[in-house]
Amino acid sequence: MSKLSIRDLDLNGKRVFIRVDFNVPLAAGGQEITSDKRIKAAIPTIRYALEHGAGLVLASHLGRPKGKPNPEMSLKPLAKRLEELLGKPVSMAPDCVGAEVEAMLPSPGQILLLENLRYHSEEEKNDPEFSKKLAALGDIYVNDAFGSAHRAHASTVGMIQYMPKAAAGLLMEKELEYLGKATTNPPRPCVAILGGAKVSDKIEVIQNLMKLVDRLLIGGAMAYTFIRAKGQATGKSLVEEDKLDLARQLMSEAGDKLMLPCDHVVAAELKDGAENEVVRTIPDKKMALDIGPDTIREYKQVISTAKTIIWNGPMGVFEKPPFDKGTVALAKAVAESGATSVVGGGDSEKAIKSAGIADKISHISTGGGASLEFLSGIELPGVAALTEK
Ligand code: AMP
Repeated sequence: MSKLSIRDLDLNGKRVFIRVDFNVPLAAGGQEITSDKRIKAAIPTIRYALEHGAGLVLASHLGRPKGKPNPEMSLKPLAKRLEELLGKPVSMAPDCVGAEVEAMLPSPGQILLLENLRYHSEEEKNDPEFSKKLAALGDIYVNDAFGSAHRAHASTVGMIQYMPKAAAGLLMEKELEYLGKATTNPPRPCVAILGGAKVSDKIEVIQNLMKLVDRLLIGGAMAYTFIRAKGQATGKSLVEEDKLDLARQLMSEAGDKLMLPCDHVVAAELKDGAENEVVRTIPDKKMALDIGPDTIREYKQVISTAKTIIWNGPMGVFEKPPFDKGTVALAKAVAESGATSVVGGGDSEKAIKSAGIADKISHISTGGGASLEFLSGIELPGVAALTEK
């Protein structure tokens, strides 16, 4: 990695401002944390900084409070959860900037969690004055919020120019290492599996990966826009009519690298346990909701030879069995392949977890949007802004 890491810094006696991604799902009017996965993901960096003699100012956004305080999106419950996880007290600031916060700044060994950055509209506007106020809270800047690195906000980009050094945290470093390895001279064959709802969401990813990979396996609803573009029947499947020309262009650029499903699981409607059948030609009144068994066989064959696998998006409507079969079968094939595998996007992660093979995946990215932009070849502003080694 060309950027400074927290491991390159002398943290002793310093106040370290760490941008974390504590954008957790909440229930019960913001009182209950339904998954603390993101808090746990930041623990290694937090512990590292404490062990190296720093006082910590932790900052994050949570939800979309639209520039105003909203008790349902307060970080208060996170301070408590963090205390439990660390077995150490965590002070909760009433705001993220201002005199009251400045009076609470931590000494070495102490932790202060700032209130939701997005209570101020200046955060998303990347406002210079707000950035300066945030920068005044720390001596050194660390970004461990990979999930927010594709956003140029005050806490991810703006404040860095007012700080002497800006480094990647351990989670950020791991994300960049795995995504970087998968996309720069990857061990070959390198195979990408792309699925999900729409071609339009992933045009740049397809274009960028096409140049890199040896095979591009397409599944999910996006396959049907390609299939229609080839002049084949798609029945009532999801097709983006306005993307047919683009799909034809992508197919001609990719040549035989791009593989499409040859059979499909179809049903008359999308509901749990709906009556379904496997077809090669999609009937007029049916929609394709998963890849079929022959496609699974073909794709598994390709996956079994891969040395590097990049996966984004499910192969079908995996939330509704039996339309999860294609996704689960490929997840197992990825796990068994022994290849270095990098999975991005919330839905792909859910699919991997439901297949019970999460521990066999080399890296599951914590950032859906950020990992997609990375795979599209776009430089993430939150990474670009960090100090060069
Ligand atoms: P994405 O967020 O783009 O990765 O898309 C994920 C969504 O695509 C999931 O909610 C899937 O249910 C949906 N999806 C995948 N395959 C299909 C399909 N064949 N028809 C309709 N929706 C699908």
